[in-house]
Amino acid sequence: MNPLRSIILAAAKNGAIRNAVATAPVSRDVVRRFVAGETTADAVAVTRRLVADGLAVTLDYLGEDTTDAALAEYTVRAYEDLLARLHAEGLSDRAEVSVKLSAVGQLLDEDLALANAQRVCRAAEAAGTTVTLDMEDHTTTDSTLRILRELRGTWPWVGAVLQSYLHRTLDDVQDLASSGSRVRLCKGAYAEPETVAFAAGLETDLSYVRCVNALLSGDGYPMFATHDPRMVRIITERAEAHGRKPGSFEFQMLYGIRPEEQLRLAQLGHTVRVYVPYGGEWYGYLMRRLAERPANMMFFLRALASRN
Ligand SMILES: Cc1cc2nc3c(=O)[nH]c(=O)nc-3n(C[C@H](O)[C@H](O)[C@H](O)COP(=O)(O)OP(=O)(O)OC[C@H]3O[C@@H](n4cnc5c(N)ncnc54)[C@H](O)[C@@H]3O)c2cc1C
Repeated sequence: MNPLRSIILAAAKNGAIRNAVATAPVSRDVVRRFVAGETTADAVAVTRRLVADGLAVTLDYLGEDTTDAALAEYTVRAYEDLLARLHAEGLSDRAEVSVKLSAVGQLLDEDLALANAQRVCRAAEAAGTTVTLDMEDHTTTDSTLRILRELRGTWPWVGAVLQSYLHRTLDDVQDLASSGSRVRLCKGAYAEPETVAFAAGLETDLSYVRCVNALLSGDGYPMFATHDPRMVRIITERAEAHGRKPGSFEFQMLYGIRPEEQLRLAQLGHTVRVYVPYGGEWYGYLMRRLAERPANMMFFLRALASRN
């Protein structure tokens, strides 16, 4: 992993830094680049705009590492409210939700996280849409895949996420590349030890390409989450080589990142889904975005300096 990235992700866990960033007025400006807003209405408004542009959406109610059952309950209700609103507004055929299990109680008790995820799936079913389980750091991977299997028993459309930086991922891809299986492939956003993850970006990229091939040659529905122009090119070429038509896989990118590329791919006939986070708990999300790209960090520091 890029040393700057590890430093930012490590610093992000420091309480004093967290306080300073979360309360700096400039943080709000930077956050607005990447986050739809704080309320369900903000999330629905951004979804409506993206859908009008020909894009699909997955919405994430921000929050993670919850150690409070009441907060987990609040998160589930936020998703229930959002899904009902998307349905009422006629947007649920183009918009689904992404859920972090640690936001609905995974750190407290796996059974609580499962029960809460079941409630979100029930609400998604009623709205006529789907749910994808985000993947968090490697200590949660087995638990997340156990919960995924349980949920898929009732709702086979529940989406999985696999991270190409983990050594284990090609095996997981092969397990999940079966009929009807929705799998998002990303590189991975957490600071992971070398015992479980590739240290170098090149190895992560090579692993990503191996997983692309495995997913495209399987019977599932791959969802390729990346902003990397090289990966987009390779995915497009490999999809053609595997005889995959647009619509039998999709591209996914984050809200606010490479928006012109999102539109370009959609105009070529591809399904492009934008991951739209919203809510007040933006800190962990923002720090991962800053760590991914030095240019984002510079934007943040420059904005901070110009206010002081
Ligand atoms: C829809 C979606 C869902 C995700 N879900 C998860 C998840 O559940 N779990 C998880 O661990 N991670 C998740 N991620 C994050 C992911 O793992 C990566 O950390 C993140 O996408 C950065 O990797 P990359 O492939 O986009 O590009 P990188 O490897 O970071 O960069 C490669 C190249 O892509 C281009 N690029 C990258 N970022 C930008 C940018 N901000 N602006 C312009 N160009 C850029 C640049 O050319 C860069 O050189 C998700 C990402 C997306 C897009």
